[in-house]
Amino acid sequence: MSNATNVTLFEAPGHKNVLLEDFNKGGLAVQANQHIIIHGKAGIILDPGGHKVYSKVLSATLQQLGSAKLQYMFLSHQDPDIVAATNGWLMTTDATAYCSALWTRFVPHFGLDRLVETRLLPIPDHGMTIDLDGCPLEVIPAHFLHSPGNFQLYDPVSKILYTGDLGASLGAPGYEVTDFEAHRAYMDGFHARYMAGNAAMRAWVKRASKLDIETLAPQHGSVFKGKDLVEKFFRWAETFQCGLDMIDKFYGG
Ligand code: FE
Repeated sequence: MSNATNVTLFEAPGHKNVLLEDFNKGGLAVQANQHIIIHGKAGIILDPGGHKVYSKVLSATLQQLGSAKLQYMFLSHQDPDIVAATNGWLMTTDATAYCSALWTRFVPHFGLDRLVETRLLPIPDHGMTIDLDGCPLEVIPAHFLHSPGNFQLYDPVSKILYTGDLGASLGAPGYEVTDFEAHRAYMDGFHARYMAGNAAMRAWVKRASKLDIETLAPQHGSVFKGKDLVEKFFRWAETFQCGLDMIDKFYGG
């Protein structure tokens, strides 16, 4: 840990996964996690966030990177809490940003200088691999969870799956889930309304359970550490009813 509020989720020689401190504490904007992976001489920031936190996240990222270079930005989907400050990041660093091919023409509405637009690259629907100085980061499809073009990032060294909005929680105490059932109070309501439906959840479980996962790290709220919690999350996701499964309810039915 470089200071009291950044959390090192994993560390091994030449490899580090850091969850940055919450720069929006008490603000109007929804709490959001910014994650960084550093491997060798290269770094990637995941879902860097919007303008309100931009300068703080940028300086914390550069501090974490040390002599490593920010090579990539990963944008799980198109929401403002993820992509709003993309232009700033591309203007101040040499990083290349990746987001779903569905959204590369929409992100520029947040303002993208001509100078940097060639560094916002599309991810095809089936995903891809991003080479972080020799570490193959896998981009995993998680479509309709919640965005129609939606991806997660798997780091094979730390065995962390960065799940974006899937697994997100609001208002949970602590950055780590301890009791899965108790944690559902902070997670179920969000998933019921934001996630597209159980069919999307099941398709994701089928894909994600092929991975060797130690930690699920969402973009909001607490992380799920250890295979027991990961397994519990899969079992929950497999049967959880959400979105289209309960569509009448959202019309007041
Ligand atoms: Fe979102």
